[in-house]
Amino acid sequence: MSGNGANRQDWPGRAALRPTAKATPGHSRVHNLSLVLSCLFHGGPMSRAELARATGLTRVTISDLVAGLSDQGLIVDLGTSPEPRVGKPASLIDINAAGHLIAVLDLSDTSQMRGALITLRGEVLRRAERPAVGATGAAVVHLASGLAQELIPAAKDARLLGVGVASPGVLTPDGTVVYAKDYQWENLPLAEQIASTTGAAVYAANDANLRALAEFTFAGASAQGLMEVSLTDGLGAGILLDGMLLAGPSNAAGEIGHIPAMAGGEPCTCGRTGCLETVLNRRVLGGEEASPGGENGGSVGSFTLSPATLERVGQSTAAVLGPIVSALNLSDLVFADPRGVATPEVISAIRQGLEERILPQIMADLDVRVSQLGADAALLGAGALVLAEQLGLT
Ligand SMILES: [Zn+2]
Repeated sequence: MSGNGANRQDWPGRAALRPTAKATPGHSRVHNLSLVLSCLFHGGPMSRAELARATGLTRVTISDLVAGLSDQGLIVDLGTSPEPRVGKPASLIDINAAGHLIAVLDLSDTSQMRGALITLRGEVLRRAERPAVGATGAAVVHLASGLAQELIPAAKDARLLGVGVASPGVLTPDGTVVYAKDYQWENLPLAEQIASTTGAAVYAANDANLRALAEFTFAGASAQGLMEVSLTDGLGAGILLDGMLLAGPSNAAGEIGHIPAMAGGEPCTCGRTGCLETVLNRRVLGGEEASPGGENGGSVGSFTLSPATLERVGQSTAAVLGPIVSALNLSDLVFADPRGVATPEVISAIRQGLEERILPQIMADLDVRVSQLGADAALLGAGALVLAEQLGLT
């Protein structure tokens, strides 16, 4: 079964993330199951009474929901709490994080395809990789399916919740790639094709959007006003605003790589010049334009970025990101940096450029930082996608 048959309203790009803390009478059983799981996922082990208080549901309803989730193997009874409590000791319920596993694929690095088997809490149990240099079209889908087929049996006795795929390009909510230049994909039903070879429920979304989702689901970030900019082969971003992952009418929200960043500038793969992608990329940040051991600037590995390069990166990046931050009143500007090129000097140059363009009142509330999720952000985001699609959990 592919992701196509699922209720698309549950897709995190179409529904509010973690929409309500309390249940209302009109909410369905499915919603209430998600609510209980969400409480345990984010709040840790709880007694049935604590779950009732946290969700606003009755004790009877909670007992019924807990029994249902227990039958599905999604939660476990940990026994009585070690902490002293008044009256009869209450037994604690927790997410059965390793009882269901998720196979996740990251296709965003066109030279190396990465995969992992993770628990519901994002712990990596197993990794696998496939070299993908130069692969395009159906060959990439074949590699991805093979990677999934290697990971799925490793779940052994645990149940497989689904397969999540982080893909470059613009994707529709049903996991069809509208276009992905690097792989020469156009209108490719990626999720459906991987599902047909693996027999699993497969979900796919844009890798930059998924890194933003991972920041929210696994790194405790707020979804009120966050943009996560991915410093990968291409340059994309995911935007969480007012508790939603922005998609846009063409599913291309966050495609910031080809916004003009400077007059003139280098030729871009899109045919124009001076796009943000030509300035803020790993070739520039990785020091390939710098003189080794040269001037005083930020150092990347054995390279040193010149002050002129830092200034250009900071100003050009801020020229593009500043108006977005101001227009959307963002509070978190996060850089996903799987290749380790966003040094403190680079972030500082960008922050300085933003300070020159953003009202002090907005700038004062803006946190500019590098994601702590490192190279696993897209994999974890693919896991977060499956949690949202299958369990309504964000
Ligand atoms: Zn361009």
